[in-house]
Amino acid sequence: AKMEGRGTCRSFEPGMDARLQERRQLEAELAVAVADNQFVLHYQPLHEAMTSKLTGFEALVRWNHPRLGLLAPSEFIHLSEETGVIDALGEWILRQACSDAAQWPLPVKVAVNLSPIQFKQQGLPLQVAAALAASSLMPSRLELEITESVLLAHNEHTIETLHSLRDLGVGIAMDDFGTGYSSLSYLRSFPFNRIKIDRSFVSLMCESSESRAIVKAVADLGSTLGMTTTAEGVETEDQYRLAKENGCTDVQGWLFGRPMPASELAAFFEAPHAL
Ligand code: C2E
Ligand code: CA
Ligand code: CA
Ligand code: CA
Repeated sequence: AKMEGRGTCRSFEPGMDARLQERRQLEAELAVAVADNQFVLHYQPLHEAMTSKLTGFEALVRWNHPRLGLLAPSEFIHLSEETGVIDALGEWILRQACSDAAQWPLPVKVAVNLSPIQFKQQGLPLQVAAALAASSLMPSRLELEITESVLLAHNEHTIETLHSLRDLGVGIAMDDFGTGYSSLSYLRSFPFNRIKIDRSFVSLMCESSESRAIVKAVADLGSTLGMTTTAEGVETEDQYRLAKENGCTDVQGWLFGRPMPASELAAFFEAPHAL
């Protein structure tokens, strides 16, 4: 119940109190979860649009929580960023993804999401180099996905870090393009080799000619700038067809496969032309 006026003490409101307690508990659990090996990576297939050939997998982290079961990133990534746990978690994700991918047949790649917080660390390029060395994964088989928020604080450090990463030989993708603070100048100023077009545009392509026009414009721009373009969140055959017709070079989405544990990927290697 909401209380107003004099005598109000919001912390006595049961709902608030319970939420705060749950958050504190989750925070404490999160602090030990990396060391306790509670995270797992699921992998979602990435396909070349024209041929539907498998090209790689995107690593998507889940928390195998002892009390709450398998948690999606939306339930803990933000908290891990606020508490600094993302440093250790991010390093674990990089190392695990590289060592998983080193077991896959050539030339299947792995894409790893980076939090903007990880990106601020001075040691990120070294951390990536160490993960590659430890797994013996060829740098060209790793692609790092960053969102526009990394570029908002657009400064010397950002540009230097991106170039150091490119110098290692890894790919860099601009994730969720079209959401947030997209700016075309980002594409010119930073060394991306891929643009991932956000699912919100892809899912509207069938009913909205505006969405189709945006997808086509981004794909054309990518092609002019020498970047590949991935349509994210392709769920239907119609969306797949429109992604191809409008120039996307790659596709990802439930039509091709949901994120799954590493142990289930073998079927994809045996049937690379899954469609
Ligand atoms: P994202 O990088 O944009 O990842 C794609 C998200 O869309 C994934 O959600 C995936 O399961 C979902 N998805 C893929 N295809 C489809 C589709 O056809 N339809 C629909 N409705 N959804 C689809 P997920 O795994 O819940 O991850 C959500 C976000 O959490 C990611 O968005 C990414 O921003 C973040 N995240 C995930 N894993 C990591 C990680 O290892 N590190 C960091 N820093 N962030 C991560
Ligand atoms: Ca991503
Ligand atoms: Ca995305
Ligand atoms: Ca997203």
